[in-house]
Amino acid sequence: SIGISIYPSDGEDAESLLRSADIAMYRAKASGRNTYQCYTADMGERASEIMRLEGALRKAIENQEFLLYFQPKIDAVTLKPSSAEVLLRWDRPGFGLQSPAVFIPFAEERNLIGMIDQFVLQETCRQLHEWRSQGVEVKTLAINLSSNRFTQDNMVGSLKKLLGNYGLPAHLIKLEVTEGLFLKESEIVQRNLAALRGMGIKISIDDFGTGYSSLSYLHRFPVDELKIDRSFVNNILDLSSVAPLVNAIIGIGHSLDLSVVAEGVETSGQADYLRQHGCEELQGYHFYRPMPASDYLKLLLSESISNPAS
Ligand code: C2E
Ligand code: CA
Ligand code: CA
Repeated sequence: SIGISIYPSDGEDAESLLRSADIAMYRAKASGRNTYQCYTADMGERASEIMRLEGALRKAIENQEFLLYFQPKIDAVTLKPSSAEVLLRWDRPGFGLQSPAVFIPFAEERNLIGMIDQFVLQETCRQLHEWRSQGVEVKTLAINLSSNRFTQDNMVGSLKKLLGNYGLPAHLIKLEVTEGLFLKESEIVQRNLAALRGMGIKISIDDFGTGYSSLSYLHRFPVDELKIDRSFVNNILDLSSVAPLVNAIIGIGHSLDLSVVAEGVETSGQADYLRQHGCEELQGYHFYRPMPASDYLKLLLSESISNPAS
């Protein structure tokens, strides 16, 4: 792979010429290797944008720019909030609230995901502890954890310690993982999942049915829940093609004794379909959007007033 830069337009001294050639070489590698690329100004802009983003992400934690949003899931029978998913937001100065869909894949690529996972775990536990110490009746929170967390030897120990520090029972935490986790056939992943479930932490498979075509992992890796992906829910009223798939997913879940949750429920038609077909929990804009902690607290408080016995 060769990167080409030309004096003087791509650099007026050796150092900047080499830097431009290097950026062009990376582009050559990215476009399949065994080729050459000439440096252009927009390559340079893209490279410095990546460096700026990486620098900003590294500082985001110490500058307290990350915050947690909460999206309630509702019980499909009672239609009351039953748990919630924790969704990360980045309040990046000058950019506003950033969706994790943008920065999480980048953080994974640049090896920054470990510190983000740690922040989310820590902050979720701290928040649960704060609410509990105010006497609030909290519900289980589902955390999205990146797959590489599950390949760490000390994963279970450090989570146990975290729960201990905040005096939290394990059933208040659920972990959402994607099917990619099961691709690796890893013994350590298997061991960690078993230990987590042994502690009482539930495991949910996010975006189920979108990532991995072999179902055999379902009997090798212990899990508790399937989460039907938004793309299926979106088209669920397409009765000839998508609905049978959703029915099949619910069937797989129930026959393996797993609970089934649907995400991205946006209409009452979708909700009715999923309820009629036995989905246990529903999540989506039709019920609640992700909300800041203060709003979620209000919801928890209003729920405990309207159902004092529950
Ligand atoms: P996900 O786990 O599939 O999360 C659900 C996403 O769908 C959220 O987007 C949520 O806001 C959005 N959503 C919820 N209901 C609806 C609906 O009815 N319609 C539509 N169109 N969208 C809906 P968000 O918050 O932008 O998160 C995007 C992804 O980023 C998540 O997808 C998850 O993969 C990742 N993510 C979020 N928080 C974290 C985190 O704390 N750690 C890690 N590792 N990943 C996270
Ligand atoms: Ca999720
Ligand atoms: Ca999902």
